[in-house]
Amino acid sequence: MDTHCFELITGPMSCGKTEELLRRIRRCIIARKKVKVISPDIDTRTKGDYIESRNGLWLDAVKVKHSIQILSLVKDCEVVAIDELQFFDSNIVPVITKLMNEGKKVIGTGLELDFKAEPFGSMPELLCLATDVYKLHAVCMKCGCENATRTQRLIDGKPADKSSPLIMIGGDETYEARCIKCYELPDVEKKSKFLGLKLLQFDNK
Ligand SMILES: [Zn+2]
Repeated sequence: MDTHCFELITGPMSCGKTEELLRRIRRCIIARKKVKVISPDIDTRTKGDYIESRNGLWLDAVKVKHSIQILSLVKDCEVVAIDELQFFDSNIVPVITKLMNEGKKVIGTGLELDFKAEPFGSMPELLCLATDVYKLHAVCMKCGCENATRTQRLIDGKPADKSSPLIMIGGDETYEARCIKCYELPDVEKKSKFLGLKLLQFDNK
């Protein structure tokens, strides 16, 4: 088994990242390696201390609020698996670097782009740090092509606009994978600025 490495599995929502992570973890368990699974403690809606893929596979996981806590949890482990890396604070970069330097194998998943199609959290640095990057595509929920690379946020079934907060907890939003052609991001903020400008010109007359 590889040591001193960091395998990063990335892609949009519903592309099978966690399923791929679970597959890799199970192989490490078969190889009798000591494995610890970590997930971010950000969402109160998730049911318990485990990670679950969309096809129903699951494994016990330790929920962590601050990246730095990972170091004390994985001291006796050979393999550290971390789900949803985009949600961790920026210390996740030095934490994973330290784990690699200690000779561990780190396997992680993360959304590379947020719903605005901008780099999510520390993912740009993590993509550089990774020794192997595995990019998955999803099926576009609008046109059915297999090249979905974006995560569309929908609120009441309509595309959320740019001013929508980055992380919504307990909201009524849903997400679906879309290809670049079908992805929509209404820019309400820009429109309101434009309206403000017109109003200003009107006042000056
Ligand atoms: Zn599409």
